[in-house]
Amino acid sequence: MPSYDFICSKCNYKFDEYLSISNRNEPLQQPCPNCLKTECIRRHYEEFPTVGYDNNLKPSSEFKEIMNMVKNSGQVPKRYHENIDRACEKTGGRLGVKSTTDMKSTSHIKRKP
Ligand SMILES: [Zn+2]
Repeated sequence: MPSYDFICSKCNYKFDEYLSISNRNEPLQQPCPNCLKTECIRRHYEEFPTVGYDNNLKPSSEFKEIMNMVKNSGQVPKRYHENIDRACEKTGGRLGVKSTTDMKSTSHIKRKP
């Protein structure tokens, strides 16, 4: 079952809930684990930090270092840590919602005013 991030607008407490796909757009029935309010829970979309492959980056050790920095920054939900570890084992590993190829393909789209 996928898990979703929620944030309490009252106390800014972030937490994960496992919801089935069919329930994902319904308001969370559960109260905030921190302040126990139900009316202030909102879906929280946390954009996963994009780490593109940098040609200037020397393989492995520095990449691993950066990945560890990302991990230790607390910005990445724990469930992604495994992916980070996996990426560290590959030279030029790429993580994130946007790959460099996606960025390339969207960068030349001209927006009409
Ligand atoms: Zn709360």
